[in-house]
Amino acid sequence: MFERMRKLFSGDIGIDLGTASTLVYLYEHGIIINEPSVVALNKKTGRVVAMGADAKKMIGRTPGHITAIRPLVDGVVSNFEVTEEMLAYFINKAQKISRKFGRPRVVVGVPSGITNVEMRAVVDATKNAGAREVYIVEEPMAGALGIKLPVMNPLGSMVIDIGGGTTDIAVMSLGGIVNSKNLRVAGDKFNQDIISYIRDEFKILIGERTAEDIKIAIGALAEGDEPLEAPIRGRDLVTGLPREVMITDADIREAIGASINSLVDATKEVLETTPPEVLSDVMKRGAILIGGGALIKGLDSLISDMLKIPVYIDAEPLTAVVRGTGIILEDLNKYKEVLVNYDDDDAPR
Ligand code: ADP
Ligand code: MG
Repeated sequence: MFERMRKLFSGDIGIDLGTASTLVYLYEHGIIINEPSVVALNKKTGRVVAMGADAKKMIGRTPGHITAIRPLVDGVVSNFEVTEEMLAYFINKAQKISRKFGRPRVVVGVPSGITNVEMRAVVDATKNAGAREVYIVEEPMAGALGIKLPVMNPLGSMVIDIGGGTTDIAVMSLGGIVNSKNLRVAGDKFNQDIISYIRDEFKILIGERTAEDIKIAIGALAEGDEPLEAPIRGRDLVTGLPREVMITDADIREAIGASINSLVDATKEVLETTPPEVLSDVMKRGAILIGGGALIKGLDSLISDMLKIPVYIDAEPLTAVVRGTGIILEDLNKYKEVLVNYDDDDAPR
């Protein structure tokens, strides 16, 4: 009976519903979807025009009546209906790829410390989008499982997940989160910092995509032997005409310095409030950086120097969380402790 159920429903999936990207893991297969968490809407009709990769191309380039939005911009459901449509799009796409059309069981990663109301919103959106059963895991826990940290053991493990909208800093042991902090300083904030800096220093207005591209191209937190530089194009605020200037890694450091400091401070606070035994494990074994923000050059050594703990970057930081949802999916029974309990009105009693 159980085997038959498994076959019937092996279209089960794990979802990393990130503010920047959504990734989907298919049971017994691996990652099948990796697309931006973006939806393009027609404001006149209220209809969805495009989702995922197609919608991202439209950001900043839409005619007046079309708007490209990121429904999860703060890491939680800030736009419920659009999130639901986006989830339905990803679930349907996964079903087309897997060719399993039953209602899947879905493991969803959510940022740590979200409220019950926000969690219910994620559960409802996932159910309305077609899920049969929804299991919730906090993203740093999923990320830790994804990078194979021994979180089920009585041993402290630390993860810093720097995404687009939020950063999750968490210390885990025995399948639970011992201590954590979630802050709205992550990749998007760095982009905004760069926009403000270029405006103030050079009197040039640049868009978000440009800011992100320059951050990825020349962002570095330590001075190298040669300065990194790249041209940046925007609108001159005085003449209103296009203008190009050369930007260096020193400019990026200056721009994002305050945000980086607040990340380090938050990490310090987590360490300061972690119980001594667990702290001693973390000091020995270090913290692992995951999420796209982990890829800013030099962040590992900066945190390590300032907080005196070893810091490492995972080899594939962008997929850690979804790999973790996959590991949970493959053995729900083994990992039931890491799942978040929520009141399930629809569950059979
Ligand atoms: P989320 O989980 O919120 O969807 P991700 O983990 O996908 O976020 O990370 C997205 C963030 O990572 C974006 O702000 C993006 O600019 C940033 N990012 C991606 N690659 C790099 C890189 N090479 N250097 C610096 N930042 C990067
Ligand atoms: Mg993430």
